[in-house]
Amino acid sequence: MCQTYEQDPSQKPSRRDLLKNTPLGSGGALTTVGLPKISVSEPPATPKPENVLTPEDALTRLIQGNRRYVKGLETPDSFTTVSKALTTGQNPYACVLGCSDSRVSPELAFDENQGDLFITRVAGNFVTPEILASLEYGTAVLNAQLIMVLGHTSCGAIKAAIKAIEKDEDFPGHIQSLTSALSPAVEGAIKKSPEDLADAATRENIRLNVVKLRKATPILSKRVRDGQLKVVGGLYEIKTGHVELIEVV
Ligand SMILES: [Zn+2]
Repeated sequence: MCQTYEQDPSQKPSRRDLLKNTPLGSGGALTTVGLPKISVSEPPATPKPENVLTPEDALTRLIQGNRRYVKGLETPDSFTTVSKALTTGQNPYACVLGCSDSRVSPELAFDENQGDLFITRVAGNFVTPEILASLEYGTAVLNAQLIMVLGHTSCGAIKAAIKAIEKDEDFPGHIQSLTSALSPAVEGAIKKSPEDLADAATRENIRLNVVKLRKATPILSKRVRDGQLKVVGGLYEIKTGHVELIEVV
């Protein structure tokens, strides 16, 4: 499967290619299962028809964008090129649940533009009720076909959560709430006695939140079951910019 994602990373897939085998490309209609009812006279906005993809093609596009980014082959569109279409609405093809870390910018890391990614960020990239609601909106209303939980190496939130558990350290203000939310991942990693606890906890945190989103009722779990949505994990390497796929099924 990875071979597919690695194909021809120097070129963005053409709009024509992206439309192949998609609901719009094959002449079908956008599905609205699980959505608030949208009348025929008011179809969902699709200012970017190339963003109507299958979940598998959405993942391929995301990873191919990251490969361009890693190689310095980004092909960003100018704001003036994309802005006119986006005044009519948005139809991002993927959602990202990322960390707030200033070194990890999803649009840059996946070589995408305005209107392509629906992004939620919180230090430690974990699901909260508000994050879940945002991802439900991004998928059920805006029709994004993919969610990626994007963790990264050298995550300060993960390091703080490890300190909180190993050294019983307290943090000021509301920061403690972050370490508390990440403690299941750290505790799960400790049980595996890893050589690198920070790496293991980062991966465990991604895995736990992927599973949580796949099982989230009533919206996300149904879309996953119906094949309308894929939820995967990614680990961004700060040093190289490379995103390693994890928890892909
Ligand atoms: Zn982080």
